[in-house]
Parts: sequence; structure tokens; C-alpha cells
Amino acid sequence: MSRTDEIKARLSAVTPGPWSGDRYDGTVKCAVLGGDRTRVLQVDHKNGTSGFSGLDGDEALAVNAPADIAYLLGRVAALEAGWHEQQCDPCGVVVRIQWLDDEEPDTLPCPACGDLMVYR
Ligand SMILES: [Zn+2]
Repeated sequence: MSRTDEIKARLSAVTPGPWSGDRYDGTVKCAVLGGDRTRVLQVDHKNGTSGFSGLDGDEALAVNAPADIAYLLGRVAALEAGWHEQQCDPCGVVVRIQWLDDEEPDTLPCPACGDLMVYR
């Protein structure tokens, strides 16, 4: 399973959102609630009921969130850095293309007119 698939699996196994914070009466007690107001996480030192209270997936998502977000931001940056733009000479269409590996093709057909575009 790829890292992206692992993140998708974690995301699909959580209490539906949007999640929201809910602080009780200004004390140390607070909670994170799911979209249907079910309690996802509760911090209540006074009553000793702190922790994730819903699906195991909620905890897995939260625990892995920093590393998952860092990984995804790295992938986004790599993808954004790989964009190339070129205008087709015969028809003028601007094509944005991205190579997902180190090998860049020399020519590709224009998606509008089919003319072979030489990428530089
Ligand atoms: Zn063209």
C-alpha cells in the first residue's frame, strides 16, 4: 500500500466531519466533536475521561496528521515544481504538462489539433 493509500484509508475510517472544538465552561475540559456532534476526543483531567472516545480511526488520523500533512505538502510542492507550459505553434493552445519521473518526452501530440509539439 502506498503512503497516499495509507492516508486515504486513515481518512476514510474517521468520524465524519467537519470536526469542531468545544471547550466546556472555561476549565481544562474540552472536546473535539464530529459533524454529527459525537465526541471524537475529550480532555477531562478532573473526571479522568481523557482520550479518543470514538472510532480507532479517529486516533490514527490525529496521531499521524503531522507526518501525513508534511508528506502531502512535499508531494504538492514536487508536483507544482514539475509543471511546464508550452504553446502549440499551429493552433496557439497553451498546454500544461507534467512529467512524473525524470524522463521528459521530446514530443507529444497537441490535445487540440494533434500536431506534434516539441517540448523544450
Ligand atoms: Zn495545437
